[in-house]
Amino acid sequence: MWNGKRPKIAVLGGDARSPEAARRLSELGAEVVIAGRLPEVPIPEVRSAGGLDEALQGASAVLFGIHGVSEEGVVHSDQGAKMTIEHEALAGMQPESCLFVGKASNYLKNLTQKQKIEICEYRDRDDFAILNSIPSAEGAVLMAMDMTPITIFGSEALVLGLGRTGATLARTLKALGSRVAVAARKSVDLAKIVAEGFRPVEYSELGVAVDGADLIFNTVPALVLPEPILRRCRPEIAIVDLASAPGGVDFEAAKRLGIKAVLAPGLPGKVAPKSAGRYLAHLIVRHLKATGRPSGELLGDAGGWL
Ligand code: NAP
Repeated sequence: MWNGKRPKIAVLGGDARSPEAARRLSELGAEVVIAGRLPEVPIPEVRSAGGLDEALQGASAVLFGIHGVSEEGVVHSDQGAKMTIEHEALAGMQPESCLFVGKASNYLKNLTQKQKIEICEYRDRDDFAILNSIPSAEGAVLMAMDMTPITIFGSEALVLGLGRTGATLARTLKALGSRVAVAARKSVDLAKIVAEGFRPVEYSELGVAVDGADLIFNTVPALVLPEPILRRCRPEIAIVDLASAPGGVDFEAAKRLGIKAVLAPGLPGKVAPKSAGRYLAHLIVRHLKATGRPSGELLGDAGGWL
């Protein structure tokens, strides 16, 4: 049973966000153990575990990275650590503990089936994805700045998709003085685009819209920029594709056409790991408290969202 000590949280794998989340969880009162993704500089209050069994023993929560655990049971780490999670390791956790993972594989779901362990998938939760869109948008703008000889101010930008990332990106570009057009397929989204002061673009008119763009940012996880559309782009265009792999651009065609187009995964971990790590830590604390877990009661108030 729960023994009233500092709740133990294991942070396993992930990217540069993970150590920052670990640091924040420790500040909020957790005993934090990290494995598979080490910080550049050791964090005094966060202990590195020798292996998975040690990390999970007595833990009431586990934080995995966005990519979580593969179908072979390997915990994803951008440092390439090879840790395989097995049933026995989870057996050492506190009852009614919780695994936080971007997206859970079937392997992970099967592993938890026979135990009282909840999986909280955060990648598609609005309260995570909307915050995560802030560093994603800033990172995409940074990439566009690197790829072009012009300022964002006064540029013609086209954003594909008005989801969580597309909406924040469009606002960020507008705030920097770009003239922003946004493409969407739902009429309600096109109405929102107009109301926000952006230029609405329907997909049927994408060929015309790309013709006038200096910058294109894609957030749609489907092929929205095939070769015939790419052929309509200006030669000096810069295309930043944020959508999850394989993205929404025909990259082979872009290469053949001499168009600068990059797939830009994992931007929050690359450009703002501290902010993005705090979002993760706060999500964990909020969830443990909201679900009435003893571990949540013992953690400090996250004190706002940022
Ligand atoms: P979201 O809120 O679900 O938005 C996705 C957008 O794509 C919506 O506007 C959706 O329109 C549109 N869409 C989906 N399928 C479409 C299709 N076949 N044709 C036209 N439009 C389509 O997702 P999000 O949180 O903004 O994330 C967007 C993408 O970026 C995801 O792939 C996510 O994994 C990725 N992401 C990447 C980073 C990074 O660092 N690169 C960071 C965060 C997210 P409807 O509403 O009409 O479906």
